[in-house]
Amino acid sequence: MKLKDDHRVRILAAVATRGASYQLLRVLVITLSLVILLAVPAAELVRLDLWRGNHLLLGEPVDFVEGLGGFVVSMLVLWGVTFATNIVVGRFFCGWGCPVGYVSRLGEDVRLKKRKKLRWLGAHLAGAGFVGTFIAAIMAWWVDWRVLIDGSLTAKAVVVGVWLLLCFGGFLHAFVWKFGFCRSACPIGLYYRFVTSRTPVGIVFSQQPSPCIECGACEKICPVDIDPKSLGQPVPGPGEESMDLARLAAGADLDAGLAPPGEVYGDAECIRCGDCVEACRMIFKSRPGETPPLRFGRVDRERASTGVHAS
Ligand code: SF4
Ligand code: SF4
Repeated sequence: MKLKDDHRVRILAAVATRGASYQLLRVLVITLSLVILLAVPAAELVRLDLWRGNHLLLGEPVDFVEGLGGFVVSMLVLWGVTFATNIVVGRFFCGWGCPVGYVSRLGEDVRLKKRKKLRWLGAHLAGAGFVGTFIAAIMAWWVDWRVLIDGSLTAKAVVVGVWLLLCFGGFLHAFVWKFGFCRSACPIGLYYRFVTSRTPVGIVFSQQPSPCIECGACEKICPVDIDPKSLGQPVPGPGEESMDLARLAAGADLDAGLAPPGEVYGDAECIRCGDCVEACRMIFKSRPGETPPLRFGRVDRERASTGVHAS
C-alpha cells in the first residue's frame, strides 16, 4: 500500500498546485456536518448524559427513556438525510460529509506539506483541532461538559481520558488506517455499500468527445483502490472475458473489496469523492480544447451493463 499511498499524495499535490476546484466545496460540506453534530447538544436539543443523568430533550430536563427516545429520533433524521442523498449519489456522504473520512485527508495534508516546516506544523495543528472538535462534538451527545467545571476529580479524569483516547484513534485513522478503514471496516460504509449502490448519479467515463490518454492518474489517486474508468461494468464470471476488467484484474488490490462475478464493478465501493475527476481535469488542463473523459454525471446503466462503457 505504501507505493499506492505515495502516488496518491503526489497526484493530490499536483492537483492542489493547479487549483483543486473541489477543495472549498469539500471544506464547506464537512463544516456543515461538524456544525450539525455540535449544534444538537449545544442547543440542548438532545443529550443523553451517561455520567450524571442530566438528560435533555428540546431544552427540558427529561428521564432516561425520554432522552433515549430523543436520541433515537435524532439519529433517524440524520440517517434519513444521508440515506436520501445516497439513494441518488451513492456513497456521497462517505466521500464528502463524513468527518471520519475527512480525518484521512487531513493526514494526507500533513504529508503533502512535509517539505515546508511551518506549513507542515500548521497542517498538524489543523488536523489535531479538527479531530479534537469532532470527538468533543460526539461526546457532547453523551455527557454534560459542565462536569469539567463542577464534577469530581475522578469525573474530570474519566471524561478527559476518554476524549484523549478517542483523539488517539483519530491519529491512527489519519496516519495508519487511512482510507482502508472507509473501504473495508467502517460499519456505516458497509451498510451503504449494500443499500445504495447502482445510483442514478455517479462518476461517468466517456471517451467522447475526447479520448482517454491512459495516463493512469485517476487509478493512482483513487483512495479506495478502484479503477474509475471501469465503474459500473459487469464483473465477469468464471471463463468470461472483459478487456477492461482483465486489465483491472492484473493490477487489482485483493483487499479492495471488489464485487463478486455477476455484479457491477465498483458501484458500492466508490465513495464519490471526485478525486479521480479532479486528477483527470488536471491532466487535461494542458490539452486545451479537449474534454476530460471522467466527470460527475448521470450514469447510463443500460450502456454500462452491456459492457459498452467507453466508446
Ligand atoms: S470518485 Fe473516483 S477517486 Fe473517488 S472513490 Fe470513486 S472512483 Fe475512486
Ligand atoms: S485521468 Fe483521465 S485521461 Fe488519465 S487515465 Fe484516467 S480517465 Fe484517462
